[in-house]
Amino acid sequence: FAPWNDPAAKPYISFRNVSKRFGDFTAVDNLSLDVYEREFFSLLGPSGCGKTTLLRMLAGFEEPTEGELYLDGQPLKGVPPHRRPVNMMFQSYALFPHMSVADNIAFGLKQDGMPKEEREERVAQMLRLVKLEEFARRKPHQLSGGQRQRVALARSVAKRPKLLILDEPLGALDKKLREETQFELMDLQQELGLTFMIVTHDQEEAMTMSDRIAVMDRGVIVQVGTPAEIYEAPNSRYVADFIGSVNLVEGRVVSSGDGHVVIDGPDGRFVGAVRSCAPADGETAWFAIRPEKMHVSRGKPEGTVNAFEGEVWDIAYLGDMTIINVKLDSGKVVQASMINRSRLVEDPIGYEERVWLSFDEDAGIVLDR
Ligand code: ATP
Repeated sequence: FAPWNDPAAKPYISFRNVSKRFGDFTAVDNLSLDVYEREFFSLLGPSGCGKTTLLRMLAGFEEPTEGELYLDGQPLKGVPPHRRPVNMMFQSYALFPHMSVADNIAFGLKQDGMPKEEREERVAQMLRLVKLEEFARRKPHQLSGGQRQRVALARSVAKRPKLLILDEPLGALDKKLREETQFELMDLQQELGLTFMIVTHDQEEAMTMSDRIAVMDRGVIVQVGTPAEIYEAPNSRYVADFIGSVNLVEGRVVSSGDGHVVIDGPDGRFVGAVRSCAPADGETAWFAIRPEKMHVSRGKPEGTVNAFEGEVWDIAYLGDMTIINVKLDSGKVVQASMINRSRLVEDPIGYEERVWLSFDEDAGIVLDR
């Protein structure tokens, strides 16, 4: 499933040079984006970068100040929210407190004049889908946060919108429930064949669920790609930093070519692989190295220039992995993470030990200054 790589594929949602201003403030700045049918698409970015504004324009609660929006090839300008084949599920869930779970789910269907029998059938189907059959007669205040979230979801999909917009749908759930619900959401989307456009500021959540992610910063999209593309080939320091943990090393480019770049800086000379950025000789560049790509050894590693020596400063045992921070003589701290494969490590690395961290050329992602 990768319609974005198919030049013949028609986008389902298109933002064309869309800007949104509130007075002097530009919340969305000349943004263009295509999303495809049945895609699970996430908007990811820090608070205030314009994610919700983008969704609200798509749902019809805001009109763009400039630019055009298309859904299935049709311009959306002037089409009111209830005439769009779109449903939006809000952060707050917005359930009716005095109505039962079943009535909450049936509400939109009733408004549309769906006959009683068909409506009841649809509500039963939705309750099955979100595994709440036994809760049909309860009121929202008699449910847990996770159950309320599922009711909101059932209500959003009951009318079978072609597009479901979700603003931080799992924000109110605790970590464990959140992780379970992520997979339920993915299953639901697959089962119903819907297009999902979701806002989150949780990068792990976006990585888990999405076909593609757009990373936003102050009203613009900085990078769009699959989770693997965003993680393995970030196009800027901002994206590298925003998704996952990263070590950054700075230096001047002393040679380049053949998909590789050599930099020389205060922490030494390093060789890295060109992904999205290819700085020229003489320029300053960053290398981004993910902690899990660092090898940790007691002796100096052989056959690589990509090595740092320092003292173990912090160790965090997380069960599945151990994170160590190593302080170099320059004062810089470099992080490595190791998967804990065996239950008890025989000779674990300890505090204040001198160790070497090294990385393969392929693991050093070159970024433009
Ligand atoms: P969060 O993750 O905190 O929800 P967001 O990325 O969804 O943030 P938006 O809600 O889209 O951000 O807001 C983008 C910017 O536009 C913010 O600085 C916000 O204060 C501003 N903004 C949003 N709506 C309005 C409005 N109606 N009037 C004035 N400013 C607004």
